[in-house]
Amino acid sequence: MSNTTMHRAPEVHEYKAEMKQLLHLIIHSLYTHPEIFLRELISNASDALNKVRFRELTGQAVLDSGTPLEIRITLDRNAHTITVEDTGIGMTKDDLINRLGTVASSGTLEFVKSLKEQGKTLDVSMIGQFGVGFYSVFMVADEVVVETRHAEPDSIGLRWKSDGKGSFTIEDIDKPTRGTRISFRLKDSATEFSEEYRVRSIIQKYSNFVDFPILIASQGSTLQKVNTIRALWQAPKDTINPDEAHEFYKFLTHDYQSPLGYLHLAIEGSVNFKALLFIPATPPVRPFILDNDKSLHLYTNKVLIEEHCKHLLPEYLRFVRGVVDTDDLPLNVSREVTQSSPQMAKINKVLTSKILGLLHDWSAHDPDKYQRFYTAFGQQLKLGINTDTANRDQIVQLLRFETTHTAHGSLRSLKEYVERMNPEQQEIYFLTGEHRDTMLNNPNLEYFQKHSIEVLLLTDPVDIIIIPTIGEFEGKKLVSIDKADIRTVAASSQEQKEPSMLDSALLALFKEALGDKVEDVVPSKRLVDSPVTLVVGKEGMDAQTERMMKMLDKTFKGGRKILEVNMEHPLIRNLSRLQLAQAGSPLLRQYILHLYEGALLLEGNLPSPAIFIRRMIEIMTDATR
Ligand code: ADP
Repeated sequence: MSNTTMHRAPEVHEYKAEMKQLLHLIIHSLYTHPEIFLRELISNASDALNKVRFRELTGQAVLDSGTPLEIRITLDRNAHTITVEDTGIGMTKDDLINRLGTVASSGTLEFVKSLKEQGKTLDVSMIGQFGVGFYSVFMVADEVVVETRHAEPDSIGLRWKSDGKGSFTIEDIDKPTRGTRISFRLKDSATEFSEEYRVRSIIQKYSNFVDFPILIASQGSTLQKVNTIRALWQAPKDTINPDEAHEFYKFLTHDYQSPLGYLHLAIEGSVNFKALLFIPATPPVRPFILDNDKSLHLYTNKVLIEEHCKHLLPEYLRFVRGVVDTDDLPLNVSREVTQSSPQMAKINKVLTSKILGLLHDWSAHDPDKYQRFYTAFGQQLKLGINTDTANRDQIVQLLRFETTHTAHGSLRSLKEYVERMNPEQQEIYFLTGEHRDTMLNNPNLEYFQKHSIEVLLLTDPVDIIIIPTIGEFEGKKLVSIDKADIRTVAASSQEQKEPSMLDSALLALFKEALGDKVEDVVPSKRLVDSPVTLVVGKEGMDAQTERMMKMLDKTFKGGRKILEVNMEHPLIRNLSRLQLAQAGSPLLRQYILHLYEGALLLEGNLPSPAIFIRRMIEIMTDATR
C-alpha cells in the first residue's frame, strides 16, 4: 500500500531558544549516564502504546486495529546504529512541532539553570525524578530520524530529522503502518549501545516492568523478548518479594533509591480494587515544581486509564506513589465522570485509612523508620490536620515535635509529652520560632527550664497553622508560653507577693517611658536570668505568628505586648536604686527603652536595629567615661 501524498521538500523549523539551552544542559549534566536515553525512548513508546490501547478498548477507530502492541529495538554493532520502533499512537505534524520540540515542563529549565548557578550538576538521584525526555538521545547521537504515523485512519506518514542544535526538518513520507520509529547512528563515544548485552542490561535495569513486550534483534537475528511483563499489583497478596516490589517502585517513579516501605492491597467489598503503594525514602528534589502533578497510576483491569490520578488520595498524602487497579470503573467514561464517581471516593477513603494505618504501625513498631518518614514528609502530612476532619485525631497521633527535653533532631509525640507531664500540669506548652538554638535562649523559657517543665519547640512554619486546629490533646490545652499565665503554670508553688514601694515606682517609670508601646508593664514570675521579656496580652498573637503576618503584609503592625520585668534581676535592682538617687535622670529612660527594644530584638520583631545600636553606643560611651 502506498500513499499518494505529494512529496515536497522538507520543511525547516527553528528550535525555540530555551530548547537549545535545555539540550545543552542535558548533555553536559547527564554525560555520566548516557544510557538514560534508552529509558526515555522506551518510556515514550510505552506511553504511545497505552494511548492506542485505550482508543481500541473504548471502541474508537484506529489504523492497523489488532496489530500487536510492542516495542522493537534493532541493533547493528557494525554500523553502530539503533532503531526503536513502536506500534503506538504515533504523531501528527502538530505533535512533531509542538510536543517533540518543546520542554515538557516549564519548571525543568529553571530548575536545571538554578542548579548550574549554584555550581551543582544534575546527578543520578535527580535525573530519575523528572523526564529528561526525548532530547537525551542527542547525548549519544549527532543526528536523529523520527518516522511516524498517527493512529487516526486518515493520517499521513512523516519524517522528522534533526541534529538537535539549531533546527529540525519535517517531510511527508510513505509509511503504511501506524506508530513511531526512531533511528540514529551512535557517536563514537557511545558505540556500546549497539551491543545487545548492554542494551538488555539497561532494559532490565530501567524498563523491566514496561507493560508491553520489548523485543530485541541484533545483526539481523529474530526479535526476542527482553522484559518480564507482570502486573505486579495483580499478584496474590504476599507472593511478591520486597526486591521485586522495590524494582517495580524504581521503574514506576524513576527514583534511584528503594522506597521506605510499601503496601500491597486486595480490597473486596463495596468497592473492589488492588493496589501497590509505596512511600518514598526522600521527597522529590523539587516538590513544588514538577512533582505536584505526580500521583497514583489508575488502571482498570490492567489497562492504564490515568497516569497521575489525583483523586485517589487526599493532597496531604500525595507523596505516596504506586498503582491502583479497579474493575469498578468503566473504561469508556470521561475523566470528569471518573473523578466524581462514588467508587473513586470510596477508594480514596480506603487508601487513606490504609496509609495512615501503615504510618501508625511504623510509629509504634519501627520508630527509626517512622522518624525517617516524618523528616521527609511530616510537613505534608500535617496539612491533613486542617483538611481531613474525619482523620484528624489519627493524624494528630502521628505528629512529632522536638521539645526542650529532647536532643536536637529527636522527636516526641503529644502522647509521650502528656505521659511525662507532672500530675499538676494542666496544659501542653509550646514555643514557636525558627531555630532551636535561639528558641532555647528565649527569656520566656526560663521559668519552664528552671522548673523542668517540658515545652514543645515548634520550628516548622506549618505548626502555626495547625496548632489552633488541634486545640487540645487528651483534654490538655495547647498553650503558647508567650501567652501562658504563669500563675496557672506555677499553680501552688509560688505565693503572690505584693510589689514593694520601690518596685512600684520603677514599674510606673517603665510605663511612663514606654507609653503606648506596650499594653502594660508587670512584675514577672517567669523570668529567672533575664531582666525583661515581652509576653502576649489577652488578645495578642505570639511572636512567630506576628513575624509571619509582617512578612505577608508589610504594613502590619502587630498587637501591643505586655512587658514583664524581673524585679530580682541585679540590673533592675540597680535601676531602682538609680531612680531613688536621681529620679529625673534621662539615662534611666534610655535604659528602659533599650531593655524594651532588646526584648523586641530577641523576638525578631525589632523595627530599627540602627536606632538600637546608636543608643547602645551612647550608653556604653557614658558607662566608660
Ligand atoms: P515527555 O515524554 O516527558 O512528554 P519527551 O520529550 O520525551 O517528553 O516527549 C515529548 C512528546 O513527544 C511526548 O509527550 C509525546 O507527545 C511525543 N512523543 C515522543 N515519543 C513518542 C512516541 N514514541 N510516540 C508518540 N509520541 C511520542
